[in-house]
Amino acid sequence: MNKVEARQKEIQQAEELLFAGPQAVGFAKGLFQGYFVSDWVMPYPRIPATQQAELDKTLIELRQFLGEHLDPAEIDRQADIPRDVIDGLGRVGVLGATAPVEYGGRGFTQMVNCKLLEEIGRRCASTSVFVNAHHSIGIRALLLFGTHEQKQRWLPKLSTGEQLGAFALTEREAGSDAANVQMQAHPTEDGAHFILNGEKRYITNAGIAQVLTVMARTPMPGSDKTAVTAFLITPDMPGFTLLEARMPKLGIRGTATGRFALRDVKVPRENILGPMGKGLKVALTVLDFGRTTFGACCTGAAKTCLQLAVDHANTRKQFNKTLGEFDLVKKKIARMAADAYAMEAMTTITASLIDRGLEDYMIETAMLKVFTTERLWEVVNDVFQIYGGSAYFVDLPLERMLRDARINQIGEGSNEVLTSFIALVGMRGPGMEFKEIYDTVMKPSRDRMSKAWAAGMNRLGAAIRVPDVPVQSEQLRGHARKLGRLIWRFNFAVNRALIIYREPILDMQLVQERIAGAAMDLFASTCVLSRQDAELQFARRNGDSAPLDHSAADLFLRQSFRRIRRFLGGLTDNDDKSMLATANSVLGKPRS
Ligand SMILES: Cc1cc2nc3c(=O)[nH]c(=O)nc-3n(C[C@H](O)[C@H](O)[C@H](O)COP(=O)(O)OP(=O)(O)OC[C@H]3O[C@@H](n4cnc5c(N)ncnc54)[C@H](O)[C@@H]3O)c2cc1C
Repeated sequence: MNKVEARQKEIQQAEELLFAGPQAVGFAKGLFQGYFVSDWVMPYPRIPATQQAELDKTLIELRQFLGEHLDPAEIDRQADIPRDVIDGLGRVGVLGATAPVEYGGRGFTQMVNCKLLEEIGRRCASTSVFVNAHHSIGIRALLLFGTHEQKQRWLPKLSTGEQLGAFALTEREAGSDAANVQMQAHPTEDGAHFILNGEKRYITNAGIAQVLTVMARTPMPGSDKTAVTAFLITPDMPGFTLLEARMPKLGIRGTATGRFALRDVKVPRENILGPMGKGLKVALTVLDFGRTTFGACCTGAAKTCLQLAVDHANTRKQFNKTLGEFDLVKKKIARMAADAYAMEAMTTITASLIDRGLEDYMIETAMLKVFTTERLWEVVNDVFQIYGGSAYFVDLPLERMLRDARINQIGEGSNEVLTSFIALVGMRGPGMEFKEIYDTVMKPSRDRMSKAWAAGMNRLGAAIRVPDVPVQSEQLRGHARKLGRLIWRFNFAVNRALIIYREPILDMQLVQERIAGAAMDLFASTCVLSRQDAELQFARRNGDSAPLDHSAADLFLRQSFRRIRRFLGGLTDNDDKSMLATANSVLGKPRS
């Protein structure tokens, strides 16, 4: 296959994967069009009173259970989460939190689920990743795409934790390139079964799960093409071979990350999840949920880091002062507080998009994943520095937290791949409008004219109008106006990049990184502003006279706005050419 054909295939694959079905304009897509789609982000979402009461009760139980039974250091040392901890999480309801009550779950929303995951993420990353692997992704395809019969058969035991789930996409040749799944699934002659062959690696819970959602490549009837399909597999099926139950690793050591092979495993047709050949769509939708709870777990961990940093900075003395009296320590603590506030706001709003039925939230979940995992890495690094030499030793939790946090930037879509994804999927809307206009100019026709006119008016509208960011609190109007102007500048930058670079922008990752970076900070700022507005309004309604301390939110907005300006400025003022030339020289590639 030559380069052009390969590119066409990639585009076709992405189109099939991402853009099938009706598309309501969500917040992120609106942003890329130059609009502020406020309905999805303002007012700040609240958990309905009945669910809040259930959540409060569950949180009390969960905290008590974790306080009494969870020992993160021991889990790390033993590289195992004890069965009684898993059973306890099942009893509290965490392992089937969002599964419908009729299938033995708690019927919670994603917002409630995120609050539970934040609580676990505060204490132990191994445990939160284990819960994610089982509940956010392991049983998610069954929850989202399973038939009533499949749910009835499999979910009751999975919802309570009596059985555990896993999600198996990754293979040697299919890591970031998830579409390149090589595991084969061929139908038997009567079509009643599929025979599966291949290997999966790096699968969380592979060795302890009783039900695995496995992605394999099936022939497409009536064509010579193949496509990925999702199957439910159980390890008692003949031919299921566990190659390694627990691969020794850097962090989240309590999780069982394993490898397995399927050798002529005969799987009944009724174990297919979702439509045949739509396994990649299934996988991406599943990962949307995983990325949302990643945000919650990172928020929990960031809050713990902040608390540890404050405790140490207020007690440890050097040069006759507590560390908290030094500006360079204060700077770290302030940034941690600002980021933790933003991470929580962003997680809450993203989860609410799922709960409120936005059809396509892929960009928002990707933004949440990249943003919160990058922030947590900074936060862990900062608290580590504040503790100095003591952070290095195993009697404190910091070296473990540092090791544990590293997986977040790699798992469930590496941050580089997702950064590119955010920019390209976001720019698709305005890109199509420009294409319409361009094609009409090159080859005018009556049919094209009306579409091009609509596209042109839309682009023009976004270019001349600064979006209104509708906050209710007077004291936030200044920030809201600045955010509106930055969205306008962002839209201008996106349009300019599309006009200047056209199709080659698909390969220009340094441009994509700046556009995605600005979009992420615009989303994060919006979430912070929305949360701050809601808190101020709540205080006003309750007649609170004491001014709220919103210094962390205020700092976040200032720093975020500065980053956005830097990202956008970097589109025209950068060292990209020199950087690429250096990399090409070092990699032994021709200079482009
Ligand atoms: C502890 C752990 C648990 C895991 N659990 C699961 C699980 O439960 N289920 C499952 O299916 N998988 C799981 N994974 C796999 C995980 O999702 C993959 O590791 C991840 O998707 C990256 O794939 P890879 O490791 O093959 O890296 P590669 O695809 O080889 O990528 C390596 C690096 O190359 C860069 N890169 C790759 N592609 C691009 C690109 N297009 N543009 C720019 N840079 C790029 C990125 O920096 C990336 O980090 C787990 C992994 C680990 C380490």
